Amino acid sequence: MTEPFSPVRRGDFLMLQCRALQPEVAALYFTTRHGPQLSSPNLRLSGQDPWEELLEALGLPGSRLRRCRQVHGSVVWEADRLLPGQLPPGDGLVTAGPQVLGAQFADCLAIWVLDTAAPALGLLHAGWRGLRAGIVAAGLKALDRVGSGDRGRVRAVLGPCIGPCCYEVGEEVAAWFHHRFPGAVIRRGHRRYLDLREVARQQLAAEGVKGERVVSSQLCTCCRSDLFHSHRRDGGRAGRMAAIGWLREGRNRIPDRRSGDKTLAGPGPEGAQPDGEKTAF
Ligand SMILES: [Zn+2]
Repeated sequence: MTEPFSPVRRGDFLMLQCRALQPEVAALYFTTRHGPQLSSPNLRLSGQDPWEELLEALGLPGSRLRRCRQVHGSVVWEADRLLPGQLPPGDGLVTAGPQVLGAQFADCLAIWVLDTAAPALGLLHAGWRGLRAGIVAAGLKALDRVGSGDRGRVRAVLGPCIGPCCYEVGEEVAAWFHHRFPGAVIRRGHRRYLDLREVARQQLAAEGVKGERVVSSQLCTCCRSDLFHSHRRDGGRAGRMAAIGWLREGRNRIPDRRSGDKTLAGPGPEGAQPDGEKTAF
């Protein structure tokens, strides 16, 4: 399985872009530790808001950004109903319009869901608490509301996150997931490790988004200290990565500068890399 995220430079940011899922319909990015930093302890005390800087680097107006105040729950907001700068408590956003969805991560799993029929896009922040609380089902339900409602047309991308190589969990958490999601808890000696992406895959499948329509990164945020911050590895001092996504052809389509006329050229082959920037993992 090849890694669906490949490095690209946008402004001062080194980012990973996922082109494996209809890149002419939705733009999906995940930032790395290289470039302006998003939050504590690296938050700068003066100067431009790093999120604005991030949107600018992507050729997007900052006013289109919508985010939540992430609380490890299962509340999903319709981004088209939120105002710029509003930070409602929640862990997911969906849009069928021009809004840019953003969330921040330090080990948790970013899940993008794309309704290719509408089109409509969702971005979910999913750690074990969110997965247990039902963020995947809630995200798909919200996507149905703004999108076509046809689960057969939904595809998903699972981003970089802490992998089962590193994500040791306590006995209680391990037992809860082990009973519901076979194979998602791995035992090594007396230790138990949770595979967040495997839980998400099984939850997506249970909601009608089957394996062949799910694209998954294999990158571990804890192992890959060259690329990522990690809360498990760096503790409370850990920085954050941003996941970001927007529809290139939403109902109120505003093309971003970088996509240029390519968005009008119709669907190309999936996974095509028109810029010639290659995977370097
Ligand atoms: Zn790892």
